[in-house]
Amino acid sequence: MAPDPQKPPDSPGSPDLQGPPDLQGPAASDIIDMRLLEAMRAEGCPVCVVRARSEKGILDTIISERVLDRGFRADLERRQAFCRRHVAELVPTDRRETGGILGSSLLLGAVLDRRTADLGAAVGSRGRDLRRRLKDARLRPPCLVCSQGATAVETALVRFAERSRDGVWAAVLAELPFCLDDFIALWSKAGSEKAFEPVARAQLARFEDLSRRLEGFAHHSSHDRRHLLTDEERSAADEATRVLGGNVARGGS
Ligand SMILES: [Zn+2]
Ligand SMILES: [Zn+2]
Repeated sequence: MAPDPQKPPDSPGSPDLQGPPDLQGPAASDIIDMRLLEAMRAEGCPVCVVRARSEKGILDTIISERVLDRGFRADLERRQAFCRRHVAELVPTDRRETGGILGSSLLLGAVLDRRTADLGAAVGSRGRDLRRRLKDARLRPPCLVCSQGATAVETALVRFAERSRDGVWAAVLAELPFCLDDFIALWSKAGSEKAFEPVARAQLARFEDLSRRLEGFAHHSSHDRRHLLTDEERSAADEATRVLGGNVARGGS
């Protein structure tokens, strides 16, 4: 097929429905590249994969190595905490790692004690004093699992942005199914780097195409037009959920 004269030569075009990107091309020069390539081979947004793996890694370490560390438990709710999402992971992680729930019970007990310790004194207090006590009780240190995930994501984004200057990597980056938040974060790292422009154009084309398919779904949903619905339109809502919500329900994939 002759090249389309309308299309700029560096534009990879819409990556939709072209199947998974060819990952044979990019070469890994160190362990960070290797981890990225591994995440790129998994399904969904590779940055979400990096985040999920890092969060799972720290949770596994906490359950298998740090639970009995008094210093670690003493820091809970003082310097670090578990957010609601990661509190919910403690027992399942423990069951998976140790086959029991002793370690997670110790952690949950420490957190619960610490969080409720000052609340007893709030009973009977009123006005400004009560408001201050309850406000203090709601202030919590950052989630250590989320923080670990955010650090891994930061490393991944910086490296992806660097690698986008390499044509072979850029071609693959253009085709990867980044979620919108992680794509914008990646763009922020790459900045006005010329080599990133084709990546940005291709990703935006993917989001536009998705938007068009969602509209098509709505248009073809009425009873008399249902036979016009295409598979691409049917799958659009699931894909948009991943674009806007990240790799949902993929656990520690
Ligand atoms: Zn993502
Ligand atoms: Zn968290």
